[in-house]
Parts: sequence; structure tokens; C-alpha cells
Amino acid sequence: MATLNFGEAALQTSVEFLKGIGAFKALLLQKELGIFNFNDLLHYFPYRYLDTTQVQSINSLQPDQEWVQLKGIIMNFQEHGTGFKKRLTATLYDPGGQMELVWFQGISYVLKNIQPNTAYTVFGKLSFFNGFPTITHPELEKVQVGAQEKTDTMLPSYSVTEKLRVKGITNRNFAKLTQALFSKINAADVYETLPQAVLQQYGLMGRFEALQQIHFPANADRLSRARHRLKWEELFIAQLKISQSNLRNKAQAGFSFPTIGNVFNDFYEKFLPFPLTNAQKRVIKDIRTDTLKGRQMNRLVQGDVGSGKTIVALLSMLMALDNGFQSCMMAPTEILAQQHFEGISKLLENMPVKVVLLTGSVKAKQRKPILQGLADGTVHIVVGTHALLEDNVVFKNLGLAVIDEQHRFGVGQRAKLWQKNSLPPHILVMTATPIPRTLAMTIYGDLEVSVIDELPPGRKPIVTMHRFDHYRPKVMDFIRHEIENGRQIYIVYPLIDESEKMEYESLMANYEQVKTHFPDPRYNVAMVHGRQDPGEKERNMQRFIKGEAHILVATTVIEVGVNVPNASVMLIESAERFGLSQLHQLRGRVGRGSEKSYCILLTSTELSKESRQRMSIMTQTSDGFVIAEEDLKMRGPGDMYGTRQSGALDFKIADIVQDADIVVATKEAAEQLLSHDPQLSLPDNRLLYLALHQTQKGQPMPWSKIS
Ligand code: ADP
Ligand code: MG
Repeated sequence: MATLNFGEAALQTSVEFLKGIGAFKALLLQKELGIFNFNDLLHYFPYRYLDTTQVQSINSLQPDQEWVQLKGIIMNFQEHGTGFKKRLTATLYDPGGQMELVWFQGISYVLKNIQPNTAYTVFGKLSFFNGFPTITHPELEKVQVGAQEKTDTMLPSYSVTEKLRVKGITNRNFAKLTQALFSKINAADVYETLPQAVLQQYGLMGRFEALQQIHFPANADRLSRARHRLKWEELFIAQLKISQSNLRNKAQAGFSFPTIGNVFNDFYEKFLPFPLTNAQKRVIKDIRTDTLKGRQMNRLVQGDVGSGKTIVALLSMLMALDNGFQSCMMAPTEILAQQHFEGISKLLENMPVKVVLLTGSVKAKQRKPILQGLADGTVHIVVGTHALLEDNVVFKNLGLAVIDEQHRFGVGQRAKLWQKNSLPPHILVMTATPIPRTLAMTIYGDLEVSVIDELPPGRKPIVTMHRFDHYRPKVMDFIRHEIENGRQIYIVYPLIDESEKMEYESLMANYEQVKTHFPDPRYNVAMVHGRQDPGEKERNMQRFIKGEAHILVATTVIEVGVNVPNASVMLIESAERFGLSQLHQLRGRVGRGSEKSYCILLTSTELSKESRQRMSIMTQTSDGFVIAEEDLKMRGPGDMYGTRQSGALDFKIADIVQDADIVVATKEAAEQLLSHDPQLSLPDNRLLYLALHQTQKGQPMPWSKIS
């Protein structure tokens, strides 16, 4: 078939050829907004719409209003200060009142272009100073006197830069460019990516219409349908990618573990220290089923802190051993690896199972026999850190890799483990940071998920309190009381960057201060932080684990996994500097024994609204899933779990928090479509296939490949 040379090719035309642009402005658009061609402009969406029917009056403005639109005349332009302190003010009058407008930038532009005594529509973010309303850097639009009020009330407004504004391309003027664009293109220039069947089934607007409506909506309803369609397309394409890789994973051949043998059974009958919870049993059953199929397992186990994931990992590793395979367990920190190693060695002390520890700090001399044992198969289980990924770590027959605290490792690291045997080993990833459902669907879509939603019996809820700094002496009294009752205490400080000198010094100062609160020589204070060498860190940690130290002053190096059941108080200093999930992780270090436990959040009195909200969520709930959802809502997806680096959430218009229902719908739709056309090779799905393989953002689709 001949190459199609109509349609989207038109969208590759440079914007230079649009009415009112020309070479100079084209260059400016390129530099300032990355807009090169028609296609880029078409996808540069308005950030808001001016609804000329919605006008407030100045004397009804309230401090809790954020964005407001007013109409009035502007007078009394006055310049104040000089240089960097320069500022321009003016007064806006409407029939009921007056208020101040302020500019710190673009002053000469405003003075030149805004006419005093003329009616303007004023839009901006409202703030109050000493009880008086003001707007800084308002958007101004001249009211067309005498002109017929247009019937369409939704005028697009685009974000532009200062440089563009100076050249007369303002938030509102920008619409002239998109208008010019739409006079040059029509429906035939913009292909429909979604198959007809999908459009119909989900009642979606066509692509060209959606693009038209998002720039120039006929009304609020059409706009919301247009946005819905564009978000849908974006999420659908993401879900298709995930589902396809999922299908590939599912088809990946893997080792089969048909036997439940002596090792597993002996351990289960003789040495299991407690009955498993039903949730733990269910997860083990999932793993058993996965490893029977002759396909590679890729399973994520989500279970709140303290839900007992380690024993699940151990039992899975014993299953592997019964089938002649080795296992590895990888933890994100040395402390955690050490702790897993000790815990597992203890549980297996009367079993014929060889367990070793391999971390970065294991010296060459000790390393040699370990590597030897892994290569000749005399070592059955290795616990370690990233050190396990190194190329010189060679296994005789690795069958299972457990990754603890998954969110700290990247996908690439997971992939490295695949290379360690002739077939990729089964992968079991465990996380105590519950991943909100939509996020899991989006970034961990290639993993099957099991949930441990039940805590072992007998756990007492942790009492969480929020206190202000000046309450510290009372907190210290309380801590002394707990120590006298035989308990141990964590005190955690936020260190954002452990290598930073100032932060380090303030940690030291705090450590000294804690010691002065406990001058009695019977009380021992230990400290761990990221600057210590592993040996020193380990020694201090051991003093606390063994009960020799009563207080552990720490940075977040102890965030994950550390298990000291006798610790009953987690005191978090400057708690406002931690995110919700981190606070929840830290809190999970206590409440692991039979004693009543406490988490005390100390903050300064001057808290932002968000910080206050975080503290109140922490005191109200201990449900990790609720906290993760709240965290996602407050922070947005970009900040979480290293997703920023992954780029998986780099959506242009969709938002997986607000558009959770679309995430769910598109996942279903993607699976349905792929079930009868896994390669997207049917003619109806051909354009979708190309959209999926469109590599760079803003690039036109590679339509020329249609032949
Ligand atoms: P996490 O899921 O946070 O990794 P761990 O595996 O460290 O949790 O388990 C937390 C504590 O609970 C450990 O002391 C462990 O021995 C104990 N534990 C785990 N499962 C059970 C159970 N079924 N019954 C009683 N205690 C359990
Ligand atoms: Mg754990």
C-alpha cells in the first residue's frame, strides 16, 4: 500500500505559517513554550476559561476565596521603591467597592498597555493584607464596550511567559493563535486514535472534536466531555503499554516448584514460632500456585508494618529449597539485611539450611567463601543488600529472589536479578508502604498483588499524640517513666541530606541535649545516622537491640524494618518535616511487643495548613492504606515512591488521583482489547499501535509508517 501523505502530515507545518505569527514570534514560541509546529500548538491546552458571566463584587470578597473574577475600572497607578524592591500599585473600582492591585514585574508593560479609567475584567488570586483584599499580577482583559456580549461565555486563557507577554502574546491573546490554527486544519487532519468500538462503548467524544472543544468550548458540558476524552486516551495508552508488558511477563517461562518437601514441612511443624494469620496463609497459597505453573512469578506482597511479611518470605524460600533451588533476599539497608539475616538464621538454627549474609561491608576475605558457596550450591539462602546484584555474585541455581521494601529499588534493579539463572527466578517483592490502588495499577501494573490485611493477634494500638515543642520537658518526663518501667525509646530527627554539614551538626547538638535530659549514668543513649561507617552503625544498633542502650537517637536510617519489640515510644522531632508515609513507617517501629506503645509527634507551633492536616491524619488513623491514599491526595503522585524518575506518571492532562475512575475503566478496556488483538495488528487498532509507539513527547505520530 502506498504511504499516506495526507492527514496528520499537515500538523507538522511550522507555526511560522500561521496568520499573525511569522518568523520572529515563531522562534519565541519555540524558545519559551517548546511550540514548533501545528501539532504542538494543538496540544498546548488552555489552563482556564474566562466565564464572563461569573463576576464577583469587591465588597463581597471573603478570605477563603482563592481565584476571583471582578469587573471595574483601574486608576491611581503608583510606582514605589527602586531596583529589586520596585512595585506598582493601582486601585480597582467596581460599583460597590475598591481594592488594590499589585505588580512586582512587568511594570513598564502594565503602565504602557493598561488604560486608566477604562473597564477591565480582572482575574487573579486573592489575598488579604490587614483585612484588605488585593490581587498580585492580575490578568486583565479590556471589556468591549458596546460590543454584543458573546453567547459563548468560556474564553480560553493560556499560560504564557513574561517575554511573550511583552511581545503582545498574552494569556488571552494567545487564543488568536489557536483560532488561526483551527482555520487551517479540519477533521481530516487529525486522526482518530481510538477504535470506533471503544468510542461507542465508553461514550467518548471524537479526537478532533475534543481538541476543538478544549480550546474553544461551546459550554461547560462539552468542555468536560472533551477533557474526559483526552484524559481517557492518555490513560488508555498507558494501560495498553502496561498490559502488553504484563502479557509478556505472564508468558515468561519460569521454574516449577512441584514439591512441598521435608525442609518446608519440618520447619512448619517443629519451628514455626507462631500460628500464621489467615492473611499470611492466603499469600503463601498465592505463591504456591504461582510457582507451580512453570511461568515466572512476579508478585508484590503489600502488608502494613508489622503484618509479618518476613515469615512469608522465609517459607517461600524453603519451598524453593525443597525443589533444589537457592534463594536470595535483598533489603535496602545494611541494618535491615543484618537483621533479616539474624532473624532467619535463628529460626533455622536447627535446620539443615545454610544461610549467609552478603553486603557491601563484607570484606574480601569473608566474601570469597560466600561467593564460592553460592556458586557451588552449598549455600541455600543469601540475605543481603544491592551487593547481591553485582556481576561476580553467581548462583548455582537461583530459583527465587525476595526484594524487601520494593519502593526503594528501581525496576532496573529488579531486572538485574533476572539474569542470575538460565530462566529468570521467581520474584517476590514486599512493601510496607501500601500503594494506593490507582498508583499500583499504573506503575506496578506488571506485578500481581497479594495483600496481608491482618495484623498478628495481640497487637495493641499505638497511641499517637501531636505536641508542640514547648511541651518537650513533659515528654522527657514521660520517657523517663517508660524507661523506668523497662522500656526503650526511639528519638528520630529529620535529616534531609545526611552529608550536609549543618544538618549533621544540629543532629549532634540534639544528641547532646538528649543526654543532658538523662544525666543519670544508668541511662544509656546510643545514636545511629547515615554518616557513621557500617561497623559503628551496627555496634550502636546492637547496643539498642540488646537492651544496653535505653534511647536510640536516629535519623531515618531506621525507617524500614528495624524490629525491637521492647521499644515502646517513638518520639519524632520536627515531625512537620516528614511526609505521611514516612511518619507511618517510623511509627511502625513501636507497638511490636506486648506493651502499650506511643508515638509522639513534636512540631513547632507555626504549622502550615498541610502540616497540621498531616498531624491530624496521623493521630486519627493507623491504617496504612488510608494514610497512603491521603498522602497521595496531598502530595500528588509525582513525589511518591521514586515515580518521578520512572516517568510512568508523566501525564499531560490526566491525574491518577482525580481521575481514578478513568484509570480503572481504561485498564479494563485495555485488557479487553488486547485479549482479542494482543499485538494491535488489526486494521481498526493500527493507529492505536502507532500512538503507542510514538516515542517523544510532542512529536507527531509516525503516520508515515502506515503503508
Ligand atoms: P513486616 O511485615 O513489617 O516485615 P515482620 O515480618 O518483621 O513484619 O513481623 C513483625 C513481627 O511480628 C515480628 O516480630 C514477627 O515475629 C511477628 N509475627 C509475624 N507473624 C506473626 C504471627 N502470625 N503471629 C504472631 N507474631 C507474628
Ligand atoms: Mg519487614
